[in-house]
Amino acid sequence: MSNRPPQLSCLPEPTTSPPVLRFAPSPNGYLHLGHALSALVNADLAQQTGGRLLLRIEDIDIDRCNQEFETAIHEDLAWLGLTFEHQVRRQSEHIDAYRAALAKLEAMDLIYPAFLSRAEIRRQAEVVEAGGQVWPRDPDGALHYPTDERHSNRQVAQQRIADGERHSLRLNMAKALSMVEGPLFWQEVSDAGQEQISSDPASWGDVILWRWDAPSSYHLSVVVDDALQGVTHVVRGADLFAATAVHRLLQHLLDLPAPAYTHHRLILGEDGRKLSKSLQSAGLRHLRAEGLSPLDIRRLVGL
Ligand code: GLU
Repeated sequence: MSNRPPQLSCLPEPTTSPPVLRFAPSPNGYLHLGHALSALVNADLAQQTGGRLLLRIEDIDIDRCNQEFETAIHEDLAWLGLTFEHQVRRQSEHIDAYRAALAKLEAMDLIYPAFLSRAEIRRQAEVVEAGGQVWPRDPDGALHYPTDERHSNRQVAQQRIADGERHSLRLNMAKALSMVEGPLFWQEVSDAGQEQISSDPASWGDVILWRWDAPSSYHLSVVVDDALQGVTHVVRGADLFAATAVHRLLQHLLDLPAPAYTHHRLILGEDGRKLSKSLQSAGLRHLRAEGLSPLDIRRLVGL
């Protein structure tokens, strides 16, 4: 993973229109130094390339997102001195666009209702692992969803849904991959240059595309939005590197353009772990109250 943001010379050949970059925070907590790095690298690249800089509020997780955090995002970004194009996209206002993408995948017979809770998946995995076998995990360490329901009787599933049973909608990964000819690549841009990354969506198993507790899912909405907003370069943290494989697959299935990607280094806490929104000491509001300036923040994140 690159330690520095990509240099101008490493960006893909300019097309006729300017690059489009975006910063896409979720209002489920206050912004911290990790967000500052992402936002600043996006802004610097937009400035160097004459590109457009968009802000997207990823607020589909209605239980965890709220207006107070959203307002704070705007305040903190303004304090950092960043200005974004005026039309801010709020995901909660575009559920129909995600539903339309889901319907397309449903029409391809790639989606199935999944009824197992996390606890039930864990129980199944424990039984299998107690027998000495390995239950697959995704790159974030979460257990794969068992594949049995891919083929469950449709009428029975419809009845369970009609009876109000809680369920999510998942992608049949095996079937989705059977629709891809050859390996899928994405273009990763770093200060070392451009690299074709061979993506491995199968490592994620049957990902959720529509959650029971929130409309849409991160994977589906991010792919739809990047396409609808004409994003040409996605610049975000290295924690989302592996997830790009799923995004690349969805772009292929939905016939959407594939942007280039830059996954920048993460800012780690004193414990060596990725910063979390609950860690107050690295929060931009906290640092501002301590008397730090936007320039100090730039230095703190290594820019
Ligand atoms: N909303 C995500 C976050 O706050 C970022 C998603 C992305 O940049 O693709 O971590």
